[in-house]
Amino acid sequence: MEQEQPSPVQKPLLAGKRVIVTGAGIAGLAFPLALRKQWPSKYDAEFPTIVIYERDDLKTQIGREGYSISIRGDALAGGMQALQKIGILEKLLDVSLTGRDNSTHTDGETSQDRGAFCLWDLKWNCLLRMTGKATDTELPAPSMRIKRDALRTVLIAAVDAISHVTMHWRTPCLSAEISPGAEQPVKVCLADDRVDYSDFLIVADGAGSKVRSKLRPTDTLNYAGICMISGTARFGENEIPKPMDKNWGGVLGGGGIGLFVSAVDSRSALWALSYPEIHARDRLAAPMSEEQVQSVLQEALELGRPFMEPLPTLIKATDPSTLTVMNAMDKQPFAHDNGCPIIFIGDSNHAMSPFAGNGANMALCDAWDLAEQLCQSETLEHALRTYDGLSMPRSSKAIDMSHWSISLLHSRGLKLLCYKLCLAVLRLFI
Ligand SMILES: Cc1cc2nc3c(=O)[nH]c(=O)nc-3n(C[C@H](O)[C@H](O)[C@H](O)COP(=O)(O)OP(=O)(O)OC[C@H]3O[C@@H](n4cnc5c(N)ncnc54)[C@H](O)[C@@H]3O)c2cc1C
Repeated sequence: MEQEQPSPVQKPLLAGKRVIVTGAGIAGLAFPLALRKQWPSKYDAEFPTIVIYERDDLKTQIGREGYSISIRGDALAGGMQALQKIGILEKLLDVSLTGRDNSTHTDGETSQDRGAFCLWDLKWNCLLRMTGKATDTELPAPSMRIKRDALRTVLIAAVDAISHVTMHWRTPCLSAEISPGAEQPVKVCLADDRVDYSDFLIVADGAGSKVRSKLRPTDTLNYAGICMISGTARFGENEIPKPMDKNWGGVLGGGGIGLFVSAVDSRSALWALSYPEIHARDRLAAPMSEEQVQSVLQEALELGRPFMEPLPTLIKATDPSTLTVMNAMDKQPFAHDNGCPIIFIGDSNHAMSPFAGNGANMALCDAWDLAEQLCQSETLEHALRTYDGLSMPRSSKAIDMSHWSISLLHSRGLKLLCYKLCLAVLRLFI
């Protein structure tokens, strides 16, 4: 009997091409890593030249990156799986706040002791505690809480190690267009008046994407009806007040005001107060004048009145360079035009507010899935259709869920009572 021949490895669509990536955030850094990982060795010599343009400096900006985020391995999030496939999950767990699953740390704690997502009542009694269930037994931990700049540092080091990839810092992209018939059809305009050309453009410049605003001017962010004041409080080593020294999550029952708290590292904790407001506010971030800082801190103390200690302590210990006033904004994903070499991933396609707790997870999954399709599909049309079919439903679901989280955290009266009853029932099953 004739033996079935293994199908020949498809020459990837990006073989020998020049690819520009705008934005060295989570999606923009994960994409080249995912591509490198999935690139068939047979075509190693034709790995594309990748150029990343990033608006900000290499040095982490405290206000922008100085908070912690959750990367999860549940069916919707999938960020842990993406990092594992990319090959950097172990490194990230080493620098995460939560560590590996079931491991005992030098201080005798297990990762279960190290932190969980909680919902508290006003007296900081725990209404719900979730450590994350290991639905995927291949993962060394079901989820992790990690400082955002630690995630970024590991991603940058890994990208740095790939030959054929160059990163340009402090180089914002202003716009992009297609020049049909040109040898390299994508034209990218940079802020320093330079122009660069490529075969493909991966747009990963985040929620406020400049490239999206030029190519899809009506596809703007929607205000989700919630304003937020947040900051990071600094303490001595291991002096973060309980219970956010270990656990993170939200406090219910603030009479329509929401409170989220989380450790950022062993010396810092993030607090975020949120409230419904008809109109979005002007965004405020460092550098602020001393007068502005005092006025925002005073506003936070007043807004936070329904909540007990340690909130006032956190607010008073806030590092002014981390103080922010922002609005919850999001937008639903869009499908790509047939065969268009400009591809939007992460928040640039489907921005989500922090209430989703999922934007970074989605950015990682996008990077993996797009790289996979660009390696395996025979045509760009097929790659984009398959990629959109994976990315759009999950990000849309995450955005819808963020609206539910907003409703829960800001509920009052009968609605709050109903939510509390649901949580009591849920507690019986986890
Ligand atoms: C307070 C807070 C808490 C959060 N918590 C979580 C969480 O727990 N879990 C979770 O999954 N997600 C969380 N998120 C969301 C998550 O951080 C984002 O969804 C995620 O970073 C999106 O990744 P991205 O790569 O698409 O965009 P970004 O990470 O925002 O990266 C975009 C990059 O593009 C750069 N850039 C911008 N404009 C330009 C330009 N014109 N030219 C070149 N470069 C440009 C930016 O400097 C940035 O580096 C949180 C967000 C916030 C604000």
